[in-house]
Amino acid sequence: MSEQCLFCRIAKGEIPSTKLHEDDEILAFEDINPQAPSHLLVIPRKHIATMNDLAEADDAVLGRMHRVAAKLMQERDHSAWRAVTNCNAEAGQTVFHLHLHALAGRSLRWPPG
Ligand code: 5GP
Ligand code: ZN
Repeated sequence: MSEQCLFCRIAKGEIPSTKLHEDDEILAFEDINPQAPSHLLVIPRKHIATMNDLAEADDAVLGRMHRVAAKLMQERDHSAWRAVTNCNAEAGQTVFHLHLHALAGRSLRWPPG
């Protein structure tokens, strides 16, 4: 837990969010600035700054985060969707608490910008 971290504060309920899934390890909520008709964020409750900071002990929660994203997308009838994690500022990361973006509902081009 990092006291200044935006997503730790969202996970603790100190900052409001539109929650879509919550359990003892994971939270999913709507992105405040959606880049697609469906744009969800899935985070571990544990503070992990970036993908470069993962430990072996985090393997299970990372897998579960992907399954939560898939479940939420399927509930919205999105069979096609994209999972993205930006790692470090040069790759577009702005919040330094690991998060999975799940995007759907429009054509998603490749490669991403
Ligand atoms: P990143 O740029 O780090 O990959 O993604 C951070 C995401 O968090 C962005 O898509 C941004 O819109 C979202 N975001 C930033 N602040 C808030 C907030 O206070 N609430 C919510 N729900 N999303 C946020
Ligand atoms: Zn955090």
